[in-house]
Parts: sequence; structure tokens; C-alpha cells
Amino acid sequence: MSTQAQTLQEALQEARARYAAANPRSRAQNAAAAEFMPGGNTRTVLFSDPFPITLASADGCYVNSLDGGRYIDYLGEFTAGLFGHSDPAIKQAVQQALDSGWVRGGHIPQEAELAAIICKRFPSIERVRFANSGTEANLYAIQTARAITGKNKVVVFEGGYHGGVFVFSGARSPITAPFDFIVAPYNDWEGTLALLEADKDDIACVIVEPHQGSGGCIPARPAFLKHIEAWTREHDCIFILDEVMTSRLAGGGLQEVHGLKPDMTTLGKYIGGGFSFGAFGGRADIMERYNPQRAGYIGHAGTFNNNVFTMCAGAAGYGKVFTPDVAAELSARGDRLRARLNAIAAGASFPMQFTGLGSMMNVHMCPGEIASVRDHARANLPLRDLFYFDLLDQGIWPARRGMLNLSLPMGEREFDALADAVAGFVEKRKGLQT
Ligand code: PLP
Repeated sequence: MSTQAQTLQEALQEARARYAAANPRSRAQNAAAAEFMPGGNTRTVLFSDPFPITLASADGCYVNSLDGGRYIDYLGEFTAGLFGHSDPAIKQAVQQALDSGWVRGGHIPQEAELAAIICKRFPSIERVRFANSGTEANLYAIQTARAITGKNKVVVFEGGYHGGVFVFSGARSPITAPFDFIVAPYNDWEGTLALLEADKDDIACVIVEPHQGSGGCIPARPAFLKHIEAWTREHDCIFILDEVMTSRLAGGGLQEVHGLKPDMTTLGKYIGGGFSFGAFGGRADIMERYNPQRAGYIGHAGTFNNNVFTMCAGAAGYGKVFTPDVAAELSARGDRLRARLNAIAAGASFPMQFTGLGSMMNVHMCPGEIASVRDHARANLPLRDLFYFDLLDQGIWPARRGMLNLSLPMGEREFDALADAVAGFVEKRKGLQT
């Protein structure tokens, strides 16, 4: 059957069959894992129907599968893989950690080093504390806001993602953290204001991503963020900026780009050099409540808050490798690549676009502006699925939901490969549009 004559469903079926035939070891691995792990999985976002490909190793900006596939790593561990897999400065720091013992149970010099780097880059972060994930960082930030304001409600946004228990896309998960959430419309200040005003005396905090990552790489309008900042300031309410993903977009994160001064910021992902990491920080008067030298301080525990690998890899990677100049350069490269991909889709009048900022992007199979998850609800999801399988065929490793992230080791060769794969997809699949 010629491709032109195929329906989208037929093409998808064929792609899935090809995927299954090409990855028998991964299929067997998943079946074996399923005996002890639900679905053979411990991280939902990595599950991929009909079964996920198992990765055997990684190097530079490439990942290698159990079935012998070699892929350019455009998933980039959902932004935590910024340094790629072989950064020499991080390797050296980890080797030193290995040589000097890694479960010490005491303060270590690198935690202060990493804290100083963060506070210097983010003027709004006067004091910082570490955690083990972005989820944990957000949990602490929200609880801090509730504790210090004595208020109860937490404002989040449609399409927002702040961790496994803070998912605000689609149906509400039964394991959502048990806070009294108000879910406001993203990028819609009037709609948000109405909700804020209705509950203004009991809102502890507003937490927002300045560019929704998991929600589909949707940048916030700068004025929208400014309105939130001003309203929270006027209402004795804590403005939490979740920069777990977006801190990579500039030396001082998107708050630097937009001139924001949140009361609290949360961080995570790549800042630990590729090891488990989370951080929450902000105004000194807020964070000093955690100072154990003060009477009535708030305790913040966590066996691995200052784990040696994270602190050493983070101080080396974030401090020495990912300098503000490098951050600016990576964002510029990402902007150029995204423009190039969009030009390919537009040139072919293919209903496909890449949204995002800098080194983060997401494909959407629909035309028109995407300002919130409501806008990409009209996208063609089976076509996005087909794009996923076609990219794999071309040696590109994307997120199943269409997210693509740059990493530092990537160069023109890898950018050309993605652009060629997108051009090939558009050419091959244009007959499937109707
Ligand atoms: N906040 C944002 C904006 C995120 O994108 C994520 C993860 O993707 C998190 C928080 C949660 O981080 P973690 O997966 O480290 O718990």
C-alpha cells in the first residue's frame, strides 16, 4: 500500500508494528519487569505503548538501547539532562566524591558552594534549602507559604505541573496533594483575577511556571506574570515561581528575563549535574524561619538533602560549566532551531508547530496560537504519536508527548538531523492530513 493512500490510523498501526519488530529485547525486558513492577514501570512519563524501549547506556548527547538502537537524546531527561551524559567536569567531581566517601551524614563544603552559586544568580533567592526533587521543593514551598501566612488556599494554573502530586492537566489525579487548590486559567489575567478576588482573604500562595513545560512548552505572557506578582504583593500572599525547568533559559532563569522578584522560587532538574535535586528558596525573612539557630524554627528534614553526588556534581556543573554566558548561548541556539523547524512545517503548510523558549520545545499538531492547554486540546494526537515513531526511526529520541530539549553537547550535526527528520516527516505524511 502506498503511503499516500494510507489513513492516519493505518500509518500509525504500521509504525507501531515496525517499532515492536525492531525492539524485541525491550519488549522482553518490559515483560520481565512487569512481574515485580506495575506495568514494568516506576515512572509513568517514561511508559510508552505498546512497550517502552529500554536504554542500556548513554554518552555525549546520545542514548543506546538494549536492541542496539542509537539515538540523539532530544528528550534530555525532561531538561535534567542539560549536560549530556559525559561531561568531564561533572565526571571529575563525581570521581572525587567517590574517592572521599559519599554517605557522610554531616555538612559538606559543596552544599555551601552550590547555595552561593544559586543565590548569586537569582537575586530573589536570598537563602536556599535543598531537597531531592522538584516535587519535594514545591511541596516545601507551598507548605512554607501556608505556615507563614496562616492562610489555606493554593492557586495553581490549568496545564500546570509542579510534580507527581501536583498535576493540573486533564482529569484530577486521585493522588493530588490534599491542598485546597484553586485552578486558574493560564495566561488569562481577567479570569485569574476573578478567582483570586473571590477568595482573597484565604490565599496562601500563587504558584506558577513562567513557561509551562509539561503543559506543552507554553510561555507565560510577561504581563500575566507581572499581574500575579503585583496582586500577591498587595494581598499578603506568597508568589512562588516554579523554575524547576525554566532556570536553564537564562543565567538567572526566566525571572531575570521578565524582571520578576518572586517571594519564593523552586528549582530542580539539571542543577544537580544530573543527580537527584530540588531546591526552594527566596526572601531571607521567609527562609530564615528554617534557621535552627533561631527559637521556634521550622524543621526541614531529608536524609539526602545534601547528598554528596548531587552537591559535588551540582557545584561543578552549574557553577563551572553552565555559566550565564553558556545559558544565553544555549537559549539562542534553541531559538534558532525552533524557528528552523517551524519554517519547515509552515513551508509545507503542514498543521504542525513547535512552541517553547530557548532550549525547550514541544510539537503541537495544529495551527494557531497556543496560549494555554485549552488551545492545544484541538491538536491531532494520533499524528503526534506517528511523529514520535517516525522520529525514532530517524535516530531521534523524543518525549512521547512531543517534548524536545537541547543539551550542551549537541552541535550542528544533531540540529541538522532533527531538521531533516522533521522535513522527512512532513514530506512523507502530508498525504495523511485529511
Ligand atoms: N516543577 C516543574 C515545572 C517540572 O517540570 C517538574 C518535573 O518535570 C517538577 C516540578 C517536578 O520535579 P521532579 O520530577 O524532580 O519531582
